[in-house]
This record gives sequence, structure tokens and C-alpha cells, in this order.
Amino acid sequence: MTSATILVVEDEAPIASAVAARLRSEGFDVEIAADGTSGIEKAERLRPDLVVLDLMLPGVDGLEVCRRIQKDAPVPVLMLTARDSETDTVVGLEVGADDYMTKPFSPRELVARVHALLRRANREPDERKTIDVHDIHIEPDARKVTKNGETVHLTPTEFDLLVYLARHKRSVFPRERLLGEVWGYRDGSGARTVDSHVRGIRRKLGDGIIRTVHGIGYAFGDRT
Ligand code: CA
Repeated sequence: MTSATILVVEDEAPIASAVAARLRSEGFDVEIAADGTSGIEKAERLRPDLVVLDLMLPGVDGLEVCRRIQKDAPVPVLMLTARDSETDTVVGLEVGADDYMTKPFSPRELVARVHALLRRANREPDERKTIDVHDIHIEPDARKVTKNGETVHLTPTEFDLLVYLARHKRSVFPRERLLGEVWGYRDGSGARTVDSHVRGIRRKLGDGIIRTVHGIGYAFGDRT
């Protein structure tokens, strides 16, 4: 079990305590801050391994909190947004949030995202290398993909799935395995979720980027 410390900055007490309870049940140490100022103060004092940060906070808002806590030491930030506003998301990612979730979200999804962010933060330097395949260039650290030099916008999950397949390009993965490795889901449910993300990646990067292996699952594509 992990003993990573997570700081939850959220002014809505029911959400804060539900998130904290769920994360504690996963074995994390959790601290709550109910506004931006105490969030910044606790982040400085506790040096958490990850921060779950609400965007809409009274006083100092989530974007400013994100900026300030990233100033001294980079820490993974999972931002919570009240609505699916693309502007909020883009701004949030620009100020250094690593991922975001729109309310209402499922506790299971939250836990999966937290595990994924912590894995990403702790990974070996070797895994941060850029990946080049034909006209596609992937920068894992910058979470950036370009095709023929043009930036392609993938969702965070599409990006993680693409990078996972690209790093294991000799293997074919059943959908259940991908759900476990990329989403953190261990119960095997949600196979259609994998299909819809594969469709999204193919739409943006071309059909050949991911190969369907009938009766088994998916592999990084032979783009010939
Ligand atoms: Ca709020």
C-alpha cells in the first residue's frame, strides 16, 4: 500500500470529505483545505505528493492556487471543474494542472486518475523519452503530439493510451488489460470505453496508428 500524501483543496465540504474518505480507503494520507489561501499554506508545509484542486474557490481561485503551489516545487495537480468548459480546462492545463475532472465525477474515476498521475510522476527517466513513429512525434513530458509538425489535441486519456501502446509496440493487448494499465480499472468492466478512445485517436492521427487484432484486442499500428 502507498503512503503518499494528498492535499484536497475544495470549499464544498460534502465533496471534500467524500473525496478524502475515498482516497483514505485507498491507503493515502489526506489533508483538506477549504479555501485557496489555506491550500497554498498547507501545500508549502506538507509537501504533498499530489494535489486535488477545485477550480472555483472563494478568495484565491484554483488557477492562482495552482500557479503558486507549482512555483517552488512541481507537484501533480488534478483539477476539479464545475462544468465541462473548454476554456477552464485549457487555462487549467496551461497553469500546470496535469489532469482535470468535471463534476460530478465517479469516485472510482478519481482514484484511477490519482494513481495514474502518481505513476507518471514517479516513472523512470527512460520512460520520458520522446517517441517517433513515421510522421508522428510524441513528447510524454510535455504531453504533446504532433503529426507532420502540426499539434494534435488528444484528451488526457487518449494520450495515455497512445503512449502506453507506443511504448509496448511489439505487444497485443486485450481491452481488459488496457483498462487495468491505462485507466487503473481492475474489474474488467468498460471494454467499450477502450473502443471509443481508440476511435478518437484514429480520427485524429489516422486509422493506421492503432491496429485491431481480431479476437484479441489492440496493438500499436503498423501504419503501412
Ligand atoms: Ca468550489
